[in-house]
Amino acid sequence: MKSHRKLSLSCLAVVVAALYGLFPGAAIDVAAQPADGAGEAVPDRIFTNGRVLTVDADFSEAEAIAVAGERVLAVGSAADILALAGPGTITTDLGGRTVVPGLIDNHMHFARAARDWYRHVRLDGVTSRGAALALIAERARALPEGEWVIVLGGWNFAQFGADDAPFTRAELDASVPDRPLYVQEGYRRGFANSAALGAAGIDAGTRFDGRGALVTDDAGNPSGELVGAAMNLVTQHLPDASAGVRDASFQAAVADMHGMGLTTVYDVGGNGVTPEFYAPLRRAHEAGELTMRVFYSLNGQHGIGSSADEIVAALSARTPDLTGLRFAQFGWGETTYPPMRAQPWRISAQELANYEAIAFAAAENGWQMHEHALRDVKVRAMLDVFEAVDAVRSLADLRWTIAHTNGMSQESIDRANALGMVFATHSSSRLATPEAIAGGATTPPFRSIHESGGIWGLGSDATTVASPNPFHNIGWVVSGLSPAGERILSETVPREAALTAHTRRNAWLLFRENDLGSVEAGKLADFVVLDRDYMSVPEDEIKDLRALMTVVGGEVVWSATN
Ligand SMILES: [Zn+2]
Repeated sequence: MKSHRKLSLSCLAVVVAALYGLFPGAAIDVAAQPADGAGEAVPDRIFTNGRVLTVDADFSEAEAIAVAGERVLAVGSAADILALAGPGTITTDLGGRTVVPGLIDNHMHFARAARDWYRHVRLDGVTSRGAALALIAERARALPEGEWVIVLGGWNFAQFGADDAPFTRAELDASVPDRPLYVQEGYRRGFANSAALGAAGIDAGTRFDGRGALVTDDAGNPSGELVGAAMNLVTQHLPDASAGVRDASFQAAVADMHGMGLTTVYDVGGNGVTPEFYAPLRRAHEAGELTMRVFYSLNGQHGIGSSADEIVAALSARTPDLTGLRFAQFGWGETTYPPMRAQPWRISAQELANYEAIAFAAAENGWQMHEHALRDVKVRAMLDVFEAVDAVRSLADLRWTIAHTNGMSQESIDRANALGMVFATHSSSRLATPEAIAGGATTPPFRSIHESGGIWGLGSDATTVASPNPFHNIGWVVSGLSPAGERILSETVPREAALTAHTRRNAWLLFRENDLGSVEAGKLADFVVLDRDYMSVPEDEIKDLRALMTVVGGEVVWSATN
């Protein structure tokens, strides 16, 4: 991390100077925790006069944090922490701002998102159609001539309220007249402007016979809307980019996510992902410039084959990395075995037997399974298999994880708890419409899981089906509100539980509970200074919280003054 440390230290003076101007608040009176473990060491940095939500086991609060090297030296009252300062200690006055542990996302398609971030517009939380089109136009003007502008999911028309008609080709042409524009809504459908249709060679004579539709207007011309597999007619023409552009794109994604408060992500592969997608991460890590902690799973996207025999061989030949703290591969999923991803879900007896062989191999070789499951019928079949494995080799220490958890029954929750499993819950159903929810679309049973005593973490499943912003996830499970402000989630949880789920619980899921997830002496100094107080901001404004400063391993990696 040498080159990066140098860079950050030179930036730090600027940041500290700016912070004094930025945080002119009065000290707040909170109960301080005793500063444990200070020992003889002298802190490199002290952050004082804040409201530090440590998210330790007691959800205790403190006023100040002392950092030595990459780790927290002590947390406690301002007086106790300031007493530790030496002549070289840099002190930052937080002006009464709230500090939370760095947010951890337990399930993101991160490498895929970062790859196209540079030409990608995020519409997360944008509640007006005009504002969305303006953001797209603005990005187009900032990109080199001819470069595509794309929106790859994470939003839906329902967030525009009553103005929820599909985009027209004329509307997209008016927003971006001079270059290809492609706007995708989830995995469902996409919308192309005339330049994108032209670049893809699509005209009135184009026919599409696959699963989906190339929508035409009354005159038989393409309307710009592409449903289902017809999206490929356009997306296959997205030009590739140089390694330098991909690296810059990756760093832009990291910076934007630090601004949301994220310091750690768990990447779980995804459709279309190849080993090449991880090259920018690897290059950043090798250059000491990877400021996001990235854990990523082993899966079929890493070139190991997808038959049961090939998977068992791969799990037996490799060892999960349970000690790396910056860029480490561990865990098996979220696609653990292709037949388990069939839609609609059905599986033969032979395939279930194969799945059991894979689960045994994972258990015997110390791999954490991270299984995608949206419906209880699949969860029950998965639990049958896991209980059979557990009868032979206990799963208690492996923290096997069920991802998404939509539609899980109380009986399945109880069975998963008995196996010591972890629930990786996600926010993708935040984009469901009230009608879809009323029609039976499932959401994760957050409160049932929480009140069952289950170990659950909160994540996004971003970026195609959800926003990567952790405060969008937290705001949703606390308030129950969709981006358009409609109440669609009944199983809400207290804000303390939601923050714990997005920090300390996810550290457990990642096997890094001794290093990450809370602001405590001895742990890595990953924390976020927020623009407003997490504990007192109204529930419907939690989604709008932003980082003013993000610290990873004691280094200021992002600041609102950048
Ligand atoms: Zn999934």
